[in-house]
Amino acid sequence: MMELKGKRVLVVGMGKSGLAAALFLRRRGALVTVSDVRSAEALAKEIPALLEEGIMVEAGGHGLLTFRRQDLIVVSPGVPLDTPPLAQVKAFGIPVIGDLELAARFLEGRVLAITGSNGKTTTTVLAGAIFKEAGIPTLVGGNIGVPVVDLVEQSTPETWTVLEVSSFQLESTEEFHPSIAVILNITPDHLDRHGTFENYALTKERIFAAQQATDCLVLNTDDARVAQAAPRSLAKVCWFSIEHAVGRGAWVENGFVLYRGSKEAAVETVMPLSEIPLKGAHNVENVVAAVCAARLAGVPVDAIRRAVTSFQAVEHRLEYVATVNGVEFYNDSKATNVDATAKAVAAFSSGIHLIMGGKDKGSEYGVLAELLQSRVRAVYTIGSAAAKIESQLRGVVPIHSCETLEKAVDAAARAARPGEVVLLAPACSSFDQFENYEHRGRVFKELVNERRGWNVWQSA
Ligand code: ADP
Repeated sequence: MMELKGKRVLVVGMGKSGLAAALFLRRRGALVTVSDVRSAEALAKEIPALLEEGIMVEAGGHGLLTFRRQDLIVVSPGVPLDTPPLAQVKAFGIPVIGDLELAARFLEGRVLAITGSNGKTTTTVLAGAIFKEAGIPTLVGGNIGVPVVDLVEQSTPETWTVLEVSSFQLESTEEFHPSIAVILNITPDHLDRHGTFENYALTKERIFAAQQATDCLVLNTDDARVAQAAPRSLAKVCWFSIEHAVGRGAWVENGFVLYRGSKEAAVETVMPLSEIPLKGAHNVENVVAAVCAARLAGVPVDAIRRAVTSFQAVEHRLEYVATVNGVEFYNDSKATNVDATAKAVAAFSSGIHLIMGGKDKGSEYGVLAELLQSRVRAVYTIGSAAAKIESQLRGVVPIHSCETLEKAVDAAARAARPGEVVLLAPACSSFDQFENYEHRGRVFKELVNERRGWNVWQSA
């Protein structure tokens, strides 16, 4: 554990996790400054509470002197490590760590950490539910709403902390050392920040960089890039698959989820696939990954089965909204990259009216062509990425330019016939028209629910 008393620590970024880190450091006696490029006016809500705690604030830019004066710098996940004063002071030898690394140095008990391009939140929440079902003292957080530093105080030597960790957080870890690490999948995302796919993939691999032989690494054998990581790990590698049996880990066979702890061990039947309440093969992957991690942690099979059977989709993740005039509406606002959209589309066999668009992240939408041709009746585009999507999918399926989510829901709802599906799975981030993906998903649900009232009124 590191000593913070009297240390000069700078927190870069005044977002949720930056604020949590600043207060955490202050409580432990550090002399804390927070620096943010946003103006004092924009941060008017945050600043008074910080000053009250005796935390110094630099707003409207990062001063080199502020950065040079520190013993330690803690960066928020949203701040790129090549941000000018950061890169410079790193060269002067001032340690720069992320909020995850900071928290990990103080967390008691063991950590199950989950990363991947898609499915992190679903798998993290599910794994947390499984551990709780088994009566294990469990904390859940990370990239998921509750900053990791806020879990430190509640952790004890008996705790399992289940963490969703992002590639941004992994960029700035050193000793972060989960007892069990899971990599779900690695597909192109965030290339605007990581540059190349390989750089991004190597950042994900940092989740096991500090693991040792007594730790476990759970990898997806069905994902070629994830599987490649195995030889670089010092931990015990276990596998999950929805396609074939594995030597050590969890897999799907003949309609059942199975597990074995080693090649010699007896195969355990965990549960039938028919009891998984989530839609789509991608969610079976998430379940199998969580099952593998939970068995490795010693959770009994019956608790796993009970927790999975009663699990509900996390909001905005292929969430069922309503059926209006026989048409089902699904909210997958969290599908903010092309692979997530592909998985959402693959969860329905045909008759999909797909709403896509938002802010482009440098993605290639053309890879969806074959999948869309077989399942999607029409695409309805919104947001600033619309023109790019249209040009890359022209001739594949009918495309309607709708500009706004409101018009897209309206057009899709009018075109869809009973038995068909309207699916919001945008493949883009939301920041051009919405505050975030949650906001986009809520607006979608409101628009759908308004039509529900309309439907009742019409048929009355
Ligand atoms: P993350 O936290 O990694 O963004 P979520 O559980 O929030 O993951 O899911 C994000 C989106 O990714 C979902 O809306 C869904 O469309 C898709 N998704 C979920 N699990 C998987 C998976 N295992 N593989 C591919 N896509 C997935």
